Amino acid sequence: MHCLNHWIAGRRDNGASDRSGTVYNPASGEATGEVPFATAADVDRAVAAAARAFESWSRTGLNKRATILFAFRELVRQRADDLARLIVSEHGKVLADARGEVQRGLEVVDFACGIPQLIKGEFSENVSAGVDSYSLRQPLGVVAGITPFNFPVMVPMWMFPIAIAAGNSFILKPSERDPSPALLLAELWGEAGLPNGVFNVVQGDRVAVERLLEHPDVAAVSFVGSTPVARQIYERGTRHGKRVQALGGAKNHMVVLPDADLELAADSAVNAAFGSSGQRCMAISVLVAVGDAAERLVPLLRERLAAIHVGDGMEPNIDMGPLVTRQHRDRVRQYVEEGVTAGATLVADGRSIDVEGDGFFLGPCLFDHVTPQMSIYRDEIFGPVLSVVRAPSYDEAIALVNASPYANGVALFTSDGGAARRFQSEIQVGMVGINVPIPVPMAYYSFGGWKDSLFGDAHVHGAEGVKFYTRAKVVTARWPQSSVGKNLGFPS
Ligand code: NAD
Repeated sequence: MHCLNHWIAGRRDNGASDRSGTVYNPASGEATGEVPFATAADVDRAVAAAARAFESWSRTGLNKRATILFAFRELVRQRADDLARLIVSEHGKVLADARGEVQRGLEVVDFACGIPQLIKGEFSENVSAGVDSYSLRQPLGVVAGITPFNFPVMVPMWMFPIAIAAGNSFILKPSERDPSPALLLAELWGEAGLPNGVFNVVQGDRVAVERLLEHPDVAAVSFVGSTPVARQIYERGTRHGKRVQALGGAKNHMVVLPDADLELAADSAVNAAFGSSGQRCMAISVLVAVGDAAERLVPLLRERLAAIHVGDGMEPNIDMGPLVTRQHRDRVRQYVEEGVTAGATLVADGRSIDVEGDGFFLGPCLFDHVTPQMSIYRDEIFGPVLSVVRAPSYDEAIALVNASPYANGVALFTSDGGAARRFQSEIQVGMVGINVPIPVPMAYYSFGGWKDSLFGDAHVHGAEGVKFYTRAKVVTARWPQSSVGKNLGFPS
């Protein structure tokens, strides 16, 4: 079995813990690695290394920092396939999807390469006679990122390229379920010339997270994960005086109006609900069919689900891989059983899927006639389960979406521009798609939901990311009129 470790001060580090977790290949069910769970003392060593590195990294010139980012970008591009294969081997998503994940992460590195431009301040000359005023943005110090299993490359890369470019040092606590990609990224930073200690990886669970949240030398924490943990991280981190952004879970709706292109809507819903086996925070899990749309749409969905090939994500022609762990697969199955018991119509039953071996598979499941009282509607399932809710009118569809405690992403499918315009204005959700099922903002915009999908006021990457990882200083300066020009014969 593969022995994983931490990455502290530029090298692999075994830590001092006697606790560890097992990493699985979800497609085969085999244990492939053992990951140590950091102790508070391991975290303290990482923070100390990061704090030492911050002293000189924060004073390193912008050009030099950008040069290292460009070098890192090239190395990630060269090793993109290795990263993607590591993702598949521990997460289970299909290889093409994993390659897409690396690409989306790289786009944030592209953005962060522009740090000399992004971090510029403002200048006002002569705010009073002989007095100028100007603003600076300075790094915070040691910042930490705590990330979920479902995007082990992309989500950390929402955070650290910008944090590091801005002059901070960074500690990543990846998910204990797929910890390997973080170590390859750490090696690539080293090859790119990043000084030791600027990027560190601490593997572990709640113990490591709690120490990061309490440590006096950690200035800010970015978290992405489920809502109950996000709320806890936000409350605990802010209580310890830290800047915190904590992105939580989701239950994303796709509203389909009767005038929509239903073939496009069906293709989009299937990709958005079943890609990565539904383990995406922007996955569609509820389809709200308005008026008679469901009558025509449900048969189109059923047809498409029958054509989905489920299997090992490393194999060609596979559309959907396994779920991340056996426990998670069993939990999702339990939701399917609850849906049936509650009286929803199970149009496609993925429980009967038969894939060779002992992998954590569940086929695509489609429910019709779901109501808001059912647990399959209320809870974030995070698996290959799509629920169709029938809404009599546009207004009732909007009211349903706006009543949800989650507000990460939403989509509307229609051919009516006026309806689309009204939707983008009235819907209370952070990221909105119009005939686009997964409206993930580009790296130069910021990503984040509303309500229980985000605690704190800063979204990730884009301008808000730069702001989150820096703090503003305004200088007001008076210099007496100089006579030096006259002495040197300059025109006065
Ligand atoms: P999770 O909340 O279980 O874990 C996230 C991270 O927190 C991991 O690093 C984990 O080790 C740590 N953690 C777990 N329990 C903890 C505790 N009690 N105290 C301290 N730390 C703890 O999430 P997950 O299962 O890894 O990921 C799936 C969840 O993440 C889903 O809810 C999904 O919607 C959400 N997610 C949200 C976004 C977003 O942008 N809003 C993006 C990706 C994933």
